[in-house]
Amino acid sequence: MSNLFNGEVAIITGGGSGIGAATAILFAKNGAKVVVSDVDEKHGNAVAQQIKQNGGEAFFVKADVSRPADCERLVSETLHVYGGLDIAFNNAGIGGESNPVADMSIDGWDHIIAVNLSSVFYCMKYEIAAMLKKGKGAIVNMSSILGAVGFANSPGYVAAKHGVIGITKNAALEYSAKGIRINAVGPAFINTPLLTNAGIVGDVKKALVQLHPIGRFGEAEEIAELVVWLSSGKASFVTGSYYPADGAYLAQ
Ligand code: NAP
Repeated sequence: MSNLFNGEVAIITGGGSGIGAATAILFAKNGAKVVVSDVDEKHGNAVAQQIKQNGGEAFFVKADVSRPADCERLVSETLHVYGGLDIAFNNAGIGGESNPVADMSIDGWDHIIAVNLSSVFYCMKYEIAAMLKKGKGAIVNMSSILGAVGFANSPGYVAAKHGVIGITKNAALEYSAKGIRINAVGPAFINTPLLTNAGIVGDVKKALVQLHPIGRFGEAEEIAELVVWLSSGKASFVTGSYYPADGAYLAQ
């Protein structure tokens, strides 16, 4: 099997856990140099270590993507260590406060918009500037099926994930002719710590599984395959769009 990458440099935010970790590992297996970034130092470092132990190239950068200065430093450290940036997967995110609109706290709203939406703007702002210097690049932003439809009691999450698709389209209009392809992915429910932290276990989980015609939740590795493909030269005409990977959730 030939590799999809030949030393291209890929940043993955939220790379210490779940979908981000699986994607970081798959990028490395396919020949990319990986910058694993996360707010969680222990888990992020562990993923970078695992990649190196398996013969890949990686290093860890601690960054809270809700802070613009952290996003700027993530890109500048990448340029310092690897000399350029080719690929970015803006994946970090949280479940956030669960309440209907009238009961949602202002702090809860501000927090989820900062972590799940403003972060994508902050990261792209600095990533695109670095990619323009090379005249090429590929960005994948993490949305959700909840970027396409609503989900009661998750107004902040749903608004943020719809917004991610919006800014993805805009950035693609602005930069596709300059060699940078920009897409968004939309997983349905995926077995990761995000779901267990949100209390999606037992009977709650069983009920949610029923919403997936495929009859199960997805696995992080199944999303990683889509992200890696979208980031590779195989997807050379693919830009400005949103790709669900959802076990037919949105087909209903
Ligand atoms: P996960 O296992 O919880 O991994 C997310 C990682 O991001 C964690 O290491 C988390 O650290 C980190 N993180 C949280 N806030 C951050 C911040 N401000 N800055 C940097 N890193 C931060 O979650 P996942 O399920 O893989 O989710 C990854 C992305 O996929 C999220 O954007 C999520 O909305 C999206 N998504 C998930 C599902 C699903 O069903 N799992 C479905 C659709 C979309 P901590 O553990 O310390 O918080």
